[in-house]
Parts: sequence; structure tokens; C-alpha cells
Amino acid sequence: MKPFDKIHIKIFICIMAGLYFSLSLMCCKAESVSSENYTAKREAMVSRQIAARGVNDPKVLEAMRKVERHKFVPEKHRPRAYNDHPLPIGDGQTISQPYIVALMTDALELDGSEKILEIGTGSGYQAAVLAEICKHVYTIEIVESLGKRAEKTLSELGYDNISVKIGDGYKGWKAHSPFDAIIVTCAPARIPEPLKRQLAEGGRMIIPVGESYAQELVLLTKIKGKVKKQSITPVRFVPMVGKDGTTY
Ligand code: SAH
Repeated sequence: MKPFDKIHIKIFICIMAGLYFSLSLMCCKAESVSSENYTAKREAMVSRQIAARGVNDPKVLEAMRKVERHKFVPEKHRPRAYNDHPLPIGDGQTISQPYIVALMTDALELDGSEKILEIGTGSGYQAAVLAEICKHVYTIEIVESLGKRAEKTLSELGYDNISVKIGDGYKGWKAHSPFDAIIVTCAPARIPEPLKRQLAEGGRMIIPVGESYAQELVLLTKIKGKVKKQSITPVRFVPMVGKDGTTY
């Protein structure tokens, strides 16, 4: 090979290395700009959709500010992750509207020491919000692919206080009962008896109850073994289903 050729090869390598370096810098910048953008969107979501509507427990607002909701939704829906509505997460299921997640968390009046049961893991987002505040979250999802994906997302985000189980949440999770709080994010026609039994004395349960896609959000409090009921607001959740797909 002539010395002239060697020089050309060196110049070519230098140009390629320069190009690679500039492209990497551009990509890093784009990534940090988009994550800043998500932080701003999250701040706006908390002030305009949540605090403005009367949720004011600082622990709940802080958790909603912290959990990166866009990481729980499919890539194509990420730009809308902080909008004021539910979003599809696959398998015909949805991640709840941010305000409803905050409202339900707020209704549990958590002090941080609780062991919580969630029925309907879905994307894992509600579980993450709860895990920011309480001691441990046990969550059950009936659709295996969703439960497995949520488990992966939650472990990638570093949550070590959430246990995910694939199964029928109607029956609760007896081995870890009683629970200081229970949150149900799919709607049965009536309140499941096993969940009432697995609620600790003084505990609270928030649950949508009623016909498919038109229910009442109900808050239950267990006092001296009896369950007291309080209606909160009309809501629209997916139905609670059994293993054979029939609704409860
Ligand atoms: N909490 C979720 C949203 C839940 S959507 C989130 O933050 O993303 C309701 C979920 O309840 C769906 O994923 C649905 O598959 C699940 N589900 C329905 N019936 C169930 C049952 N019997 N046990 C457990 N999960 C159930």
C-alpha cells in the first residue's frame, strides 16, 4: 500500500469518529430534553388536574410528581401519558386517568406504615404510586402478559416493595392478609366477600362497584368488624372478570 493511501485511510477514520461523536452528543441532548419535557408535563398534571380538583395530601402529590407515568404506557402513547384521561395498555385494558389514581390513593389516608392489596395491576402505575407512600404493595393481575410486563417495569424502576401475583383478585391474597388498605381498579357488581374479610380492623378499601363501565366509587371502612360504606363519585372502570372471562 502506498503512503498516500494510508493518509487517506487515516483521514477517513478521523472523519467517521468525529461524525460518531457528534451524533452521540446530539442523541444525549435529545434524550435529556425529552425527559425535562416529561418532568414539566408531570408538574402541570399535578397542579392542573389533581391539586386543582381538591387532592391535597402532600404525600400523594409528591408520589404523583415522582412516578414516571410515561414509562408505564406503550411507546406510541407516551406523548399523551400526562393528559387528563385513561390510555390503552394492551389486552383491551387501560391505565386509569391520573386524577382517579390520585383520588383513590388519597381516599386511603395512608400514613406510610401500611401493607396494601391492589386488585388489577394493569400497567403497574397505581402500584408504583402506592409504593412511594406505603410499606409494601401486594398486587394481583388476572391477565398474565400484563402482570409479567408490570413486574418487569417495576423492577427496572427499582421498586423492591411491590409483589406481583398472576391470579384472580376476587379471592384476595389470604397468605398476606389482613391488609391495612385495599384498592380495587376493576369493577365487580358487588363487593367481594373475601376482600372484606381480608381488610384489617380500622382498614380502608376503595372500590368501583356496579354494572359494566358505569359504577360508583365506594369507600369502605372496617369498624369493630363491620364495614361502613360511603359513596365517592361515579366512575368508569373495566369489569372484574374471573378466569373464564365472565364478569363478577
Ligand atoms: N391499576 C392499573 C389499571 C387497572 S385496569 C394501572 O395502574 O395501570 C384493570 C385491570 O384489572 C386490568 O389489567 C384487568 O386485566 C384486571 N382485572 C380484571 N379482573 C381481575 C381479577 N379478577 N383479578 C385481577 N385483576 C383483574
